[in-house]
Amino acid sequence: MSKLRTPYVAAISLAGLLLVIWGLVQFPTYDQPSIFILLVALAIVAQLASTSAEVTFEVSTAISLATVPLYGPAAAAVVAAAAHAGLWLMNLRKERSQWKGSWEQLGFNAGMSSIAVFVAGLIFLTTANLLGTDTLLGQTVPWLVAAIIGDQINIWLLIIILVIQHRVRPLAFWRDNRWAMPINVMVMGVGGGLLAASVYSFDILGVAIFFLPIFLSAYAFRLFVIRTQQQMDKLEELIAERTQELVAANQELSNLHREKDAFLALLTHDMRSPLTSIHGYAMLLRDHSDLPEAQRANMAQIIIRSQESLLEIVNNILEIERLQSGAPVLLERENFDLVELVGEIVEVSGSQAGEKQIGLVHEPTTNPTYINADHHKIRRVLQNLVSNAIKYTPENGSIQITTGMNGRFAFVNVEDNGYGIPADELPHIFDRFRRVDKHKHIAVGTGLGLAIVKSLVEAHDGELLVESAEGVGSTFMVRLPA
Ligand code: ADP
Repeated sequence: MSKLRTPYVAAISLAGLLLVIWGLVQFPTYDQPSIFILLVALAIVAQLASTSAEVTFEVSTAISLATVPLYGPAAAAVVAAAAHAGLWLMNLRKERSQWKGSWEQLGFNAGMSSIAVFVAGLIFLTTANLLGTDTLLGQTVPWLVAAIIGDQINIWLLIIILVIQHRVRPLAFWRDNRWAMPINVMVMGVGGGLLAASVYSFDILGVAIFFLPIFLSAYAFRLFVIRTQQQMDKLEELIAERTQELVAANQELSNLHREKDAFLALLTHDMRSPLTSIHGYAMLLRDHSDLPEAQRANMAQIIIRSQESLLEIVNNILEIERLQSGAPVLLERENFDLVELVGEIVEVSGSQAGEKQIGLVHEPTTNPTYINADHHKIRRVLQNLVSNAIKYTPENGSIQITTGMNGRFAFVNVEDNGYGIPADELPHIFDRFRRVDKHKHIAVGTGLGLAIVKSLVEAHDGELLVESAEGVGSTFMVRLPA
């Protein structure tokens, strides 16, 4: 198919050239040649003014059509070809390097326009002859018919090259460009007719009277098209931006999915060891009633501890679900003594710390320390911190809890001399599911506790801070408005 391209372009160019030569040969016979030259010049200007990167409106074709009743169809072909030659020269000035391909383009464009306007001109003359130039019908209908024919020849000659070159679907392309047809026909038919009438009545002045508004409106239209194009570009940019955001959101979603999967895998793994302990020790207790009392008590204690670990995991999952649902954290505030609450937690945690021979000391600096807060939630906060301190401190370590008032704030510091948190992990330690890699085999956990603690403290307009050094220990500091 593409083999047809060169012969087709050559044929169109040659036909156009012959028409132009024919028109130029007739030039000496033209009545008032200055008007003809002026029309040629105006067609060039109009072509330059009305052509934007995307659209060309047929103002120059209107001028060439107007040439038909004055000088004949071949002269009209000269005007049409000249308009393209002018545009070609302008473009060539900008892109000198592409002159070779652009010769072909000039030949084709000029040829196409000349043929279209020449045939339209013949149709015009025939219809005008048929209807008579004195009647209103004879003065209007030929313009309209010629404009429609001219426009259609133009577009079909273009469609043929597009079919050959790019295999476009002819009717689909025609339909896509249908919107411009009424405008082209109006500009060519009405514009051409009025210009011809104006020249008939006012000679060279008629050209000026007519041309000025056309030129201005073509120019304005060009500006409008360029502006629309710019806005389209901006819109495209916006769409690209939004698409990018969507991709990022998708990425985040799949990260979340991955996080959740990893969490589930970890959770089932972590729940296994306390469950296995419970099962194993319960069986031992059932089957060996002859075991010494101290050993039996020890086994029961392990079962209880394992159950507590599981309960902590379940509670943390339930709590984080609640906190993440987006619903505000509802606080049931009451006045209570922080020192007393810490005392209770120390007592409850004493046995857990005792199993590892960890010294757990509570030092109140003010006594009592009343705050107005949600008792249940602050208990969760402190229980989590103390339980962490025990979990991440080796045997024979020590934990010191200090409570007191500092200005308008009550504080609780939980200080341990345990494994500590590596510096690069510290900024992320309050993120959900975050666990220090090295700690994973040390203690059972979900990586949810600190995220929950932080949310609950912040719900009280308080602050949670941490200082930690690997191998030295950690201090978690809670500050709550009194
Ligand atoms: P987990 O259920 O794993 O204990 P947390 O959210 O409570 O989850 O803690 C997150 C991680 O922070 C822990 O896995 C541990 O690595 C680290 N961490 C928390 N408390 C301490 C502490 N007192 N000392 C050292 N590391 C701690």
